[in-house]
Amino acid sequence: MSLFDRAVVAALPWVPRSLVRRFADPYIAGETLGDAMRTVEQLDRRGIRTTLDLLGEHIERIEQADAPRDGYLVALGEIGKSGLPATISVKLTQLGLYLDEDACYRNIRALVAEGQTLGVGVAIDMEESAVTTRTLSIFRRLRSEFDNVSTVLQAMLRRTVDDAVALGDLSPSIRVCKGIYVEPREIAYQGAEEVRTSYLETAKAVLDSGGFVAFATHDDVLVERCKGLIRERSLDASRFEFQMLLGVREELRDKTVAEGYPLRVYVPFGQEWYAYSVRRMRENPRVAGMVARAVLGLE
Ligand SMILES: Cc1cc2nc3c(=O)[nH]c(=O)nc-3n(C[C@H](O)[C@H](O)[C@H](O)COP(=O)(O)OP(=O)(O)OC[C@H]3O[C@@H](n4cnc5c(N)ncnc54)[C@H](O)[C@@H]3O)c2cc1C
Repeated sequence: MSLFDRAVVAALPWVPRSLVRRFADPYIAGETLGDAMRTVEQLDRRGIRTTLDLLGEHIERIEQADAPRDGYLVALGEIGKSGLPATISVKLTQLGLYLDEDACYRNIRALVAEGQTLGVGVAIDMEESAVTTRTLSIFRRLRSEFDNVSTVLQAMLRRTVDDAVALGDLSPSIRVCKGIYVEPREIAYQGAEEVRTSYLETAKAVLDSGGFVAFATHDDVLVERCKGLIRERSLDASRFEFQMLLGVREELRDKTVAEGYPLRVYVPFGQEWYAYSVRRMRENPRVAGMVARAVLGLE
């Protein structure tokens, strides 16, 4: 973590909301579902799939899970109506995972069931390591009933290759990412190359089980290695896609699409953009540094 990254985070409390908005702007579709659907349409015209993320995470009372659940239900309806290749991505803490696991399960099940009816996929995002086991067990339960549900494995966690192997009986659909949360050395790889190795091993384990892999990364080296893996295994396009975040490394995104690879963009939207942006940057100063460098044109 560089001095620059720390300085950006330290300055956050003094940065006016309007300026944070300018920083957040390229990464967020807007405050409303209408804004998000416009982005979905624009990207679709360029041959790019999407997944919608209604911003918001930890809640304090279980009733607060009703609004995001209902917001996602409306989003599923709009996606279904549009017929566009979009899915939703959901965080279980937003649906009450820390407060009432049964209620959280009912909430996520309602979304997956509605998605199944409408033919829309539901991805369960992966959050901090404290909820990895619970998230995977909820995914397992849902996957035994529905086939439109997927989840995420974080390559930085030392447990992840084993998790991928253990999920093998489900032939799951898995987004493989490095992991955005800062985790301790005892449970997480800290070196860039170790994380890349774990990333590819995880992807291979999912593919070995007959599953679908979403390669979520903007790391040039890793993107090339994933393409190598795709070639090596002569993978059919029904077995994988690339995924990138809205506003990040668009030149890499466009190059990957131009080469003919299927690609999905993660599209965050919603009124919680300020809390989301500040929280992300505080949690991981590296993200703050990357955003600041990108906005200031320093890379
Ligand atoms: C579609 C998608 C879904 C994700 N879902 C999850 C999830 O459920 N759980 C989870 O823990 N993590 C998730 N992540 C985040 C992921 O774990 C990484 O933190 C993030 O993608 C950065 O890792 P990287 O592989 O891009 O490589 P890095 O080496 O971190 O980044 C490579 C380059 O990409 C650029 N870059 C990367 N991220 C940003 C950014 N935010 N802003 C500006 N520039 C950036 C920088 O130029 C950087 O040098 C997701 C990522 C993607 C793309």
